[in-house]
Amino acid sequence: MSLSSTLPLDNRLLSEILALSRDATAIYSGEEIVIRMANDKMIRFWGKNSDVIGLHLAAALPEPEQQEFIAMIRNVWCTGNVYHAVEKPVLRQVNGRIETFYFDITCRALKDDNSNVFCIIHTVTDVTPRVKLHLTLKEKEHERFLLNEKLAVSYNDLSQANKELTEMQEQMSGLHTRLADSEALFKNIFAQAPLGLTWLRGPEMIIEEVNDPILKIWGRTAPEVLGKPIRKARPELEGQTILDRLHRVYSTGIIEVNAEYRVLLKDGDGLREAYVNSVYSPLRDSAGKIQGILVIIDEITERIAERQRRELMEEQFRISVESAELGTWFVNLDTHELISSPRLREIFGFHPDDEITLTDAVNQIHEDYRTAVSTAIHAAIENETSYDMEYPVIGYHDGKLRWVRATGKLFPPKPGHPPHFSGVLTDITQRKTEEKRKHDFIAIASHELKTPLTSAKAYVQILLKHRARLDNNAVNMLEKVEGQIGKMHSIIRGFLDVARLDSSEIQLNKNSFIISELLEECVSEASLFTRRHELVVQNTDTISVIADREKIGQVITNFLSNAIKYSPTEGKIFINCQEENGYVSVYVTDLGIGVHPGDHQKLFTRFYRVENQHTQTISGFGIGLYLCAEIIRLHHGTIGLDSVMGQGSTFYFKLPKN
Ligand code: ADP
Repeated sequence: MSLSSTLPLDNRLLSEILALSRDATAIYSGEEIVIRMANDKMIRFWGKNSDVIGLHLAAALPEPEQQEFIAMIRNVWCTGNVYHAVEKPVLRQVNGRIETFYFDITCRALKDDNSNVFCIIHTVTDVTPRVKLHLTLKEKEHERFLLNEKLAVSYNDLSQANKELTEMQEQMSGLHTRLADSEALFKNIFAQAPLGLTWLRGPEMIIEEVNDPILKIWGRTAPEVLGKPIRKARPELEGQTILDRLHRVYSTGIIEVNAEYRVLLKDGDGLREAYVNSVYSPLRDSAGKIQGILVIIDEITERIAERQRRELMEEQFRISVESAELGTWFVNLDTHELISSPRLREIFGFHPDDEITLTDAVNQIHEDYRTAVSTAIHAAIENETSYDMEYPVIGYHDGKLRWVRATGKLFPPKPGHPPHFSGVLTDITQRKTEEKRKHDFIAIASHELKTPLTSAKAYVQILLKHRARLDNNAVNMLEKVEGQIGKMHSIIRGFLDVARLDSSEIQLNKNSFIISELLEECVSEASLFTRRHELVVQNTDTISVIADREKIGQVITNFLSNAIKYSPTEGKIFINCQEENGYVSVYVTDLGIGVHPGDHQKLFTRFYRVENQHTQTISGFGIGLYLCAEIIRLHHGTIGLDSVMGQGSTFYFKLPKN
């Protein structure tokens, strides 16, 4: 430490103070800035030695970089202001390397009582460690900041990635759910399909999935087949072509469809013959590689058997139709198209291969019957009843008259089938010819019998006129003969009426009369023939009608005599007449044997009699109701019956009043 002798302070004290100072310190004075005092730290700071003490600052520190500092000290001397620099960086060479040091620098002017500056105290504090620490800290902080930034970016990236991941997860779980749904759907389809389904995996054809219908077809249970190659699971296929077909589909990838394919299937311990429709469809992965085969099977054994039965029946039917020489017809009710068999065309006088329409066929029906046939057909279609008619047709090419019997019915529409009216037709010409011969014979015989019978009746009546001269026995017998002649007469009259009807000779003789009066007459006449029955007339209103009184009486008498004949036990017979909607109706009700519904219409045809145990012992020819029906038809009325077997019948007719 060196001290200038000009310093007014106690130099020794000052230099001790300066020596103790932690900082580099120097004292300057005078305008020239003379270094009055500097401690070792300051001298080292300058990089000088103690020689600089007492020198002008500018002389002591001539280096260019010091000139700014010297100017600043001069300014402090002149102004008396304090100069303070904090953490001022200074480059220093240490061990051949340039390093930065930091110093806090203060230059303070000390003033006397007159405010004149008498010296400047210059302190330099080395704050390098603090600054470096600070810098390090700042650096660290910056690094941390950068790191944070990076972290923030990473966090953003991460949260973005996380978001994407979540979305992906959601998509995945959606896909998974969809996959699970599709799988469930697939399983459901498999389980619920009415057809047999299985899928076989790989060239080994491992049975991966089966449903109940296929197990039923196979005659096996799921545990017996699942997870096994089909060859092992179903040894019964050995020797059948199924396995070859499956392998062909697997190797070629071409779908195979087999219709009505015959197979032998397991049935208990044996095999059964079955028929199936099947589809073998290759299953490919997304790359198009074949992974397995989907097998769809529909067993149609029953259907085939049914078809065979039907074909057999149709064949039998065809043979019967052919051998019975039946013609068949089918009329589409939507289009009125007629499909006829060759035999039918023959019967109608066409060539077997002629094409004919419904109109062509109808035109060949004898004109007297054409309207009746068409009315009967329409009624059968409308009421869905069967149709059974006999009528003559005139041959188209040969002009021959043939009698036919046509039966048919309405077949309502079915899916894929229009409603149609179809049936069969037979040539009954021969029967009709024989019948005609028979009728002609009956007509001639009846006619021939009528005259002797009338004479016999007259003789009996003459004899009876003289009954007083005869004994009781003879009278009795003559009365019986008269009764029998009466019966024979009515039979012959019936035959003659039939014959007249055939030759359209019956004429109506219409007059106005009171129907209840006619009923009374017929009832009292009929009462003579029975003691067991009570005939009850329920309505005696005065209802008049214009009709053939005798023929209507014949109808009522026939109803009454039948009611008596076919009510073997005692009972009441009710007779009623009434007027309804311009018609007069007559009802005869008995409590007798009744008529089977199947016979209702037939009763009114010629010579028809019901053959059963009840009717065996009752005599008749089956022409009474036929004549009744014809008489009512000539009056444009209707005739019919309601009956319950075993309980009785009501026969009725309705006549137009005028
Ligand atoms: P017939 O009585 O001479 O046989 P009809 O033509 O009068 O002939 O009758 C035809 C058939 O109708 C009879 O054979 C009989 O079977 C049946 N019939 C007629 N009337 C009755 C009735 N009231 N009850 C039961 N059946 C009857």
